[in-house]
Amino acid sequence: ASEAEEKDLVIIGGGVAGYVAAIKAGQAGLKVACIEKRGSLGGTCLNVGCIPSKSLLNNSHLYHQILHDTKNRGIEVGEVKLNLEAMMKAKETSVSGLTKGIEFLFKKNNVEYIKGTGAFQDEHTIAVNLVDGGETSVKGKNIFIATGSEATPFPGLTIDEKKVITSTGAIALQEVPKKLVVIGGGIIGLEMASVWSRLGSEVTVVEYLGQIGGPGMDAEIAKQTQKLLGKQGMKFKLNTKVVSGDDSSETIKISTEAAKGGKEDVLDADVVLVAIGRRPYTAGLGLENIGLETDERGRLIIDQEYRTKIPHIRSIGDVTFGPMLAHKAEEEAVAAVEYLTKGYGHVNYGAIPSVMYTHPEVAWVGQNEQELKAAGVKYKVGTFPFSANSRAKTNLDTEGMVKFISDANTDRILGIHIVGPNAGEMIAEGTLALEYGASSEDVARTSHAHPTLSEAFKEAAMSTYDKAIHY
Ligand code: FAD
Ligand code: NAD
Repeated sequence: ASEAEEKDLVIIGGGVAGYVAAIKAGQAGLKVACIEKRGSLGGTCLNVGCIPSKSLLNNSHLYHQILHDTKNRGIEVGEVKLNLEAMMKAKETSVSGLTKGIEFLFKKNNVEYIKGTGAFQDEHTIAVNLVDGGETSVKGKNIFIATGSEATPFPGLTIDEKKVITSTGAIALQEVPKKLVVIGGGIIGLEMASVWSRLGSEVTVVEYLGQIGGPGMDAEIAKQTQKLLGKQGMKFKLNTKVVSGDDSSETIKISTEAAKGGKEDVLDADVVLVAIGRRPYTAGLGLENIGLETDERGRLIIDQEYRTKIPHIRSIGDVTFGPMLAHKAEEEAVAAVEYLTKGYGHVNYGAIPSVMYTHPEVAWVGQNEQELKAAGVKYKVGTFPFSANSRAKTNLDTEGMVKFISDANTDRILGIHIVGPNAGEMIAEGTLALEYGASSEDVARTSHAHPTLSEAFKEAAMSTYDKAIHY
């Protein structure tokens, strides 16, 4: 190994948490190195997560729309054919453009990019097994662990990423499966189910809970979303637990039973997507060499300033607490660097938006009705359907609604939940409103351009404390 060089900051992991921290530290004038083993920067999100999935969601939606939704718009098309290989290529072009962009930003901000697997040798030294062969080591006055997460496997099913797949296989299938069974009706399950159902698969989603979308999604919105996805052809088995799978023959058998025990069933599948959540990834990191431990769910334990019990070692992103979201990882990266360089930083965990990129999209920020009920908070609700919004009507895209929840006494916004066209962009306004402590009246008295979908947002706010105009 070569002589270890000391940096102000060494970051293990070049995902969103790691690369953003590297850039911000470089901008602050720190000597910084970022170690990434994948061979390309951007982590799960850019390589096998957010970006490739959104490419496929966008293009499969277009394909589906051309097949089923052009005649009533006065557009007649000839034979429409799916070229899956070219669709995958388009995805790869988006991914490589963005991951290379980060390499450029590293150069611009004087970040040293070390391609290899890092492991703690001691509290300041990281040994690196280089991707291109050989070893090196690097010393850091400070170290950030940003090693992210991996798909949780399903006991008894062997992931081969071809027939039994995680999201990584689901964004790279070479043909459209005839029957796809999705275990887990969370965000990954529903986004990937959308892609393959639009491209022609018969999709069944099996979900343990009584609602789709995971517990963060407002129950009313989840119900409406399930109806809309059902209309697109997706089948759902809620309150149903997958108990075992048999992948020993061509057709995979998935055994289910009612969540509360009882009724059993067996589903046949050509491909099974395991989407039951993700778990923090720390394998091979050598945590045992420095005495760092994880909690019962594998998360690195940190304090308010992202410090582990060894204060110069911090941890951010999916590998530690909080929602496993790219923009959450980014906020933490900025805050952790600020704690280091300035002594203070800030992330408002109460105002981190969630978006599910199905069609229509689902987006929310703040608390949902079931959480507020459980907490005994008195609230009022205002809603507005897209079917009464002029732009949604002109676009022939009227499914869904906006829902505001405000404090019953003060009108302060507590949560905003949207299912509808462009919900993912619209939630930015809701997040800003929540961050600034706005009331629903503040939003309703703000002028929104006509004709835009955002008027549905304004009118939902208005209906929280008064009556909406158009509904
Ligand atoms: P990661 O992105 O996982 O990055 C960690 C990196 O560390 C990896 O590249 C890994 O190779 C590297 N690493 C690990 N150990 C070592 C080591 N010892 N040495 C060197 N390198 C190491 N979030 C959203 O907000 N929006 C979305 O639309 C979205 N879509 C998603 C779709 C899918 C299919 C998946 C799987 C996830 C999606 N996510 C989305 C979640 C998002 O990808 C993660 O929250 C985000 O990537 C977390 O960033 P991170 O930097 O903490 O971890
Ligand atoms: P998730 O936790 O959101 O959903 C998993 C679902 O599987 C849950 O609803 C759970 O009840 C269900 N489940 C678990 N075991 C089951 C069983 N045996 N039978 C039936 N159902 C079962 O996890 P995910 O969808 O895998 O996503 C992982 C992470 O990635 C999430 O934190 C998510 O936020 C993130 N992600 C975000 C986006 C986005 O922001 N658009 C997209 C993809 C992934």
